[in-house]
Amino acid sequence: MFEAYWRANGDSCTTVILGWEQMSYFASRKHFLWFVEQELENEIRQLHSLVGNAVTDGRFIVVGTGSTQLFQAALYAVSPRDGAQPASVVSAVPYYSSYPVLTDYLKSGIHKWAGDAANFHLADSSSSSSYIELVTSPNNPDGSMKHAVVQGSGPVIYDLAYYWPHYTPITAAAEHDMMLFTVSKCTGHAGSRIGWAIVKDAQVAQNMAKFIELNTIGVSHDSQLRAAQILKSISGRLFHFGYSEMSRRWDLLQQAVKVSDRFSLPEFSPAFCAFFGQVTSPHPAFAWLKCNRDSDCKEVLKLGGVLSRSGVQFGVGPDYVRISMLDREGNFETFIARLSDMAAASLAST
Ligand code: PMP
Repeated sequence: MFEAYWRANGDSCTTVILGWEQMSYFASRKHFLWFVEQELENEIRQLHSLVGNAVTDGRFIVVGTGSTQLFQAALYAVSPRDGAQPASVVSAVPYYSSYPVLTDYLKSGIHKWAGDAANFHLADSSSSSSYIELVTSPNNPDGSMKHAVVQGSGPVIYDLAYYWPHYTPITAAAEHDMMLFTVSKCTGHAGSRIGWAIVKDAQVAQNMAKFIELNTIGVSHDSQLRAAQILKSISGRLFHFGYSEMSRRWDLLQQAVKVSDRFSLPEFSPAFCAFFGQVTSPHPAFAWLKCNRDSDCKEVLKLGGVLSRSGVQFGVGPDYVRISMLDREGNFETFIARLSDMAAASLAST
């Protein structure tokens, strides 16, 4: 979706790296975050102060190979090391479908996926009660604003990948202990694989750096410099473009869905956005579509020529599916045309 913006405005992003530059593993030999490029860190702090979506003062910026690596680094950083039971990793349904797989694919001894945070009850404090809660806000897949739900004092990792003005009103600067962001959803440059964590506690930041050292010996310096250049060139205009584009796409989606009662979408309330200085409406990155009459929504959409991800992967039933709203314009138009046909066909059959 952002491609059109960058085609029109991308000249200022050209990054030139000569053959002899950026050859070392190190960006700095003095700091425990030795792989973080200072230029990128500065741009990240400046971007958050421009947008007002997160507090960075007095906090560490840990850069990672996408927020996917940082998510794993964060789990590693806060999991218990004393040989006790693995920490239970929980997130309220519907949760981001990658969390269970990322948590368990190495069958770690320090953490394990434990499903829906709303159903998680702390056992007695002596045994297996250690947990880590994941909160995605706005949420992937359903776009809702989320908070921690476990009544306990365990660490909470806030995945704020979508807390940008094109997706949701910026109502306050987030100041959680661990927050994850990514250029993938902010500017659209998913292929650069750059994300960052804003971390309050020095020991947690140090543990995350250790994970990144063991996992990939740092983060591509070429990518960090390109990301720095991209973030530097973001003026408020990117968010204005993103907001109007998302707004247009959501209008088209809502029109397509409302011709019959075959499908439904969540409802969102507008709020005052401190960045735009006016009331704006949420426009999530995904359509969280419910099939009101068919039990296998993914199959129904597939028959109509639309690929989606089933609600089952997000911890709920097969009557829900998730569809991206950020695809290239041509694909988005095809999706809307096919969805309109399916909604209207259902009208003809009733
Ligand atoms: N967190 C959430 C909630 C996401 O939706 C995604 C991308 N689908 C990611 C993290 C991964 O981001 P990255 O490209 O930075 O690894």
